[in-house]
Amino acid sequence: MNNQEIREAIRQRIKSYSRIILSRHIRPDGDAVGSTMGLAAVLRARYPEKEIYVVNDDTADYTAFIGTEDTQPDDAAYADALLIALDTGTFDRLSNSKAGLAKEIVKIDHHIDDKPYGDLSLVEDFRSSACELVVDFCLSFPEDFPLTAEAAACYYVGMVTDSGRFRYSETTGDTLRLAGALLDFGIDTERLFAHLYLDPYEEFRSRSALLRKIKRSPAGVLSLTIPRSLRKKLGLTMEQAGAAVSLMDSVKGSPVWIAFIEADDGTIRVRLRSRFIGVQELATRYHGGGHLCASGATVYSKKEAGALLREADALLSHYQLSHEDIL
Ligand code: AMP
Repeated sequence: MNNQEIREAIRQRIKSYSRIILSRHIRPDGDAVGSTMGLAAVLRARYPEKEIYVVNDDTADYTAFIGTEDTQPDDAAYADALLIALDTGTFDRLSNSKAGLAKEIVKIDHHIDDKPYGDLSLVEDFRSSACELVVDFCLSFPEDFPLTAEAAACYYVGMVTDSGRFRYSETTGDTLRLAGALLDFGIDTERLFAHLYLDPYEEFRSRSALLRKIKRSPAGVLSLTIPRSLRKKLGLTMEQAGAAVSLMDSVKGSPVWIAFIEADDGTIRVRLRSRFIGVQELATRYHGGGHLCASGATVYSKKEAGALLREADALLSHYQLSHEDIL
């Protein structure tokens, strides 16, 4: 099936089911939450007779302002339900342990499609966010999926956050045109940005302690390791500690940066980011994946974290051989 045929088939599926469950990836970000909440708002407004659920096993505090999850339906309810998996590259990252019980699964995503899943799959990995793709999908069938003000605000959250406020290279003319279509609904962007980007004073203060912990490898890879003890001392949740990856995003000559955050169970969450250089392959070698320049992984010991960092250093050294002006 070509892209248009897949879209058409998804349209038909959505119309034919009377129960639809929307799920997204674990450890949600703005795009994961925005795409599920946004599509739920569209479907609820257009099809009040359908049962629409947003169901996930975990939640995120910082996007709670755009909506909350529904109660997980009984197993039996899945037998004749359509599950739409949004912003989730691989089935094992879906934040819904019951997803496999659904009658059919439709995947709508913008991650690199390493491990395809779903009965129907619309993947466009050039999109800056899953929300951008879903907005484009909705606008291509305005009769069936008309946008609403509520949906526009949810989608805008995903578009803004996943594109780094329209800064990353995936941001295209199409991205801005689609975002423009959302702004036409009258989104209160000042409040939305305040919700997304203001930090509590304590968190702001903890930044200086974290900045001091940043290290630079021989080739220039920046890394920040936050052991459990430091995280507790600073009173940071995993989500708050994870946000510290962005402290390293503006250092000239260091186009790769990595945060290692130790969880309560001793596993280490890795957040890899880069400019120009792909880090997704590296993440894949450490139980992870994601996008070319923004990936996640998990390591299980300090030794493994060190190995990952050395590989990142080698990756950057290699890149430097063929590039002179490293920004
Ligand atoms: P994060 O640093 O967790 O925000 O991840 C960056 C991107 O990579 C997000 O789009 C995640 O969905 C994706 N990602 C994170 N961890 C994994 C993983 N273990 N496997 C596949 N994709 C991941």
